[in-house]
Amino acid sequence: MSTPTEVTFDPPKCSACGANLFRVFENSYETYTWNVKKGTYEGDGTSKMTCPDCGADLYDVFPDGVCNYVNPSKKAVKESE
Ligand SMILES: [Zn+2]
Repeated sequence: MSTPTEVTFDPPKCSACGANLFRVFENSYETYTWNVKKGTYEGDGTSKMTCPDCGADLYDVFPDGVCNYVNPSKKAVKESE
């Protein structure tokens, strides 16, 4: 009897230093602009994702944000279903 192999997924690599991104730093910057017609603030947020090892900007690795990242092999499984 064979033991079932546990499926694991490797994180993406930093495009600058090649480190496995087991951790990613993300800083969000919100800019609120007062809307004189509505009388409310309107927020516009941007987030900067950086590699903990070299500090490179990881926007090209996570164009949709870190929380929306889908491992390519997982994506392939999902699409073939
Ligand atoms: Zn790096």
